[in-house]
Amino acid sequence: MTLPAMDGREGRNRVTPHPMAIIWPCPLTPSSYAWAGKQIIVPSQVCSACQRPLSGWGGYWRWVRSEHRLEQRIWIRRGWCACCQHTQALLPSFLFAHRIDANVVIGSALEQAAAGSGTRPIAQRLELPHTTVRDWWRRVTATAPLLLAALLAYATSVDPAPVTLLMDGVAAVLEALAQACERTRQRLGTRLPDCWAFWSLISGGLALAPHTSPP
Ligand SMILES: [Zn+2]
Repeated sequence: MTLPAMDGREGRNRVTPHPMAIIWPCPLTPSSYAWAGKQIIVPSQVCSACQRPLSGWGGYWRWVRSEHRLEQRIWIRRGWCACCQHTQALLPSFLFAHRIDANVVIGSALEQAAAGSGTRPIAQRLELPHTTVRDWWRRVTATAPLLLAALLAYATSVDPAPVTLLMDGVAAVLEALAQACERTRQRLGTRLPDCWAFWSLISGGLALAPHTSPP
């Protein structure tokens, strides 16, 4: 499954900076992924700058924190582009870039906060540090207009019908995400990952990047 990038640019000749990571559609749970260790198989990927195939270039260990605060070490493969002379980390789609928590956990916290719950009780329910949940919420709140614009543009690029939003703020961002995911599912007629993995895939993992502008 290949999803277009959220900026909609495609083709070999486009000029893009070299991202540090590529998100690939991973059907595994974090636990299944961790269980595979260094034997994890990553489908062939292409360079996000020049679209040429990447070759294997080792990898590195990192941590992922899943539901119920389960922390596991996972092997992240790297790809090498001989043309661009760059390596790129190949992150499974259950992650956002620069975040240790699986995106389904982050998404659950965002849904609860958007529905009006405070970040402290959310953190208690998810067994997470309050500062972590507060950071996610602040990040998505600060970038909500940009995130919303990008998701609406994506949704209408898949299906030009107007997107109806009933809420505002972060809740509207999540509405737009659901619409973009559903329209893509209908158009591709295929099985898509959950909407959080979908968001990571179309944003190159940067939807909630802590120190970069959202795409
Ligand atoms: Zn390249």
